[in-house]
Amino acid sequence: MYVYEICPYCMDQLYERKQPIDDVVVNYCPRCGSKMECACLGEQRIDDTIYKIILNDVSIPNLGDKKNKFIKTLMRVGGFDLEEAQGIYRTENTLIFEGNVSETYVNMNLLEDFVPDIHYTVIPQFPFESLLNPFISICPICGNDTVSRTEEVNNRPDDVKSGIYCETCNDWIMFTICSKSQVDDTKYCVEVSLEGINSEVKKKVMHILDSLCNKKLKGNSIIVLDRAQNIEDLLSILEAYSISYAINPPYPHKIPKLNPTYKNKWTEEEVRELIKANPGLKITADELNALN
Ligand SMILES: [Zn+2]
Ligand SMILES: [Zn+2]
Repeated sequence: MYVYEICPYCMDQLYERKQPIDDVVVNYCPRCGSKMECACLGEQRIDDTIYKIILNDVSIPNLGDKKNKFIKTLMRVGGFDLEEAQGIYRTENTLIFEGNVSETYVNMNLLEDFVPDIHYTVIPQFPFESLLNPFISICPICGNDTVSRTEEVNNRPDDVKSGIYCETCNDWIMFTICSKSQVDDTKYCVEVSLEGINSEVKKKVMHILDSLCNKKLKGNSIIVLDRAQNIEDLLSILEAYSISYAINPPYPHKIPKLNPTYKNKWTEEEVRELIKANPGLKITADELNALN
């Protein structure tokens, strides 16, 4: 197995990594000294094969940002001017690039951003498996450094858009929408007193605490220090059973509701329905609840 690295700044050449992929050793770019990133791996050593990239078809809407972005990418991949790139955009099965393995790798990465709206073929078949997207630290359009960014999402107060952004192009390189608690790195300190808690509930609380790392026992209290995402289950159970606790700093996120299986109480209304469905059944809500 051969592992190849690339400098995310120079983005010019694949370098064979001497160490195994999971080794902690970091290699630096011989040209600019930046930290290299693992780019691809394969069963064979890179050679001087020349690869061709054929752009088979494009189904990007003919208007808007995405088209402009793709035209710019096409100019960069094939060294075309604007007019040539626009012509290629409208022509099926066009040869857009021919070059060595490193250049092919870089160009495939640029094109991958537009899949599945475009379809392209590499001839001969590219023999390496691409790893991390090396464009995380530089913008594939303008080549400037990217930043990580988090912003609010319209009409979704509990969610954020989070990802890698280019401040020069004012555009996202990649992003996901996730809950605010998932990206919150604050360490919250939760203190729960276990005194007087029903033993069944205590078992459930302890079960959750088992999976948390940063906790300690102080007298009859448990103190947990962890990220929002990790303490969410604990908070859910504390809220569900109305167990009082202290949290610092105050928790700003919505605490998910615990699946209320334990609250399986029959209401008078439900019992009326039940009796209607089972004529002759004589039972009250209190009696049913006593069975649980
Ligand atoms: Zn470099
Ligand atoms: Zn940019």
